[in-house]
Amino acid sequence: MATKSKKKPLPKKKPAAGKSRTTKSVKTARAAKPGRAAGTDPKRVAAILAKLDEAYPNATCELKHENAFQLLVSTILSAQCTDVRVNQVAETLYKKYPDPKAFAYATPSELEQEIRPTGFFRNKTKSVMGASKAIIEKFGGQVPRTMEEILTLPGVARKTANVVLGTAYGIASGVVVDTHVLRLSKRLDLSRNEDPKKVEEDLMKIIPQEKWIQFSHQIIWHGRRVCFARKPKCVECNMESLCYAKDKTV
Ligand code: SF4
Repeated sequence: MATKSKKKPLPKKKPAAGKSRTTKSVKTARAAKPGRAAGTDPKRVAAILAKLDEAYPNATCELKHENAFQLLVSTILSAQCTDVRVNQVAETLYKKYPDPKAFAYATPSELEQEIRPTGFFRNKTKSVMGASKAIIEKFGGQVPRTMEEILTLPGVARKTANVVLGTAYGIASGVVVDTHVLRLSKRLDLSRNEDPKKVEEDLMKIIPQEKWIQFSHQIIWHGRRVCFARKPKCVECNMESLCYAKDKTV
């Protein structure tokens, strides 16, 4: 009669120090391509976009403007300032300075006083006057319509360029990455980069181009209304089931 061989049971593999993860998080991490945040699985991204459409179907830029030039000026003024404050200043500003010519040949000290409430008014005055001069001298008085050209204007970086091209002209040349988009991209694990340029590149890879403009508006609205920097109102968030941010409040 054959005797059963008594094999020693193999020792269970222990996870390496600092690598103990839940099955769920391992699965999620495996779904991501190297170099991408784990939350970029196309189905998850599509679900986030659907939730944003559901919550903010009419999200738009909150800077009041009547044309591309006013939006450009207001966006320059909005650096480190609220849209509400910029809109207050803009109300009288565009009556006194109705076009690029008026800004380009303004008296700097007078213009500084007008835009003082928005902060950093000396630098902003230089940027607005410089951009206005360039618009007159190089672009026939019109805000240019390409990323390459608009980036040549003084005081205009990608964020401002994307706001103007997207909102004023409907041209999707990138994704606006402001403080809200930066914070929410991290919380929603759509990017693990810190540098706005890299975050924008990450977002452009995972979001369909036809959604770039609306996505920026919707995320900014969500950041202003629900997903605050401090104490986000997760209980009111329709993306709560999709979100695994460390600082969630539910
Ligand atoms: S669940 Fe909370 S942290 Fe996550 S997106 Fe919603 S509000 Fe922001």
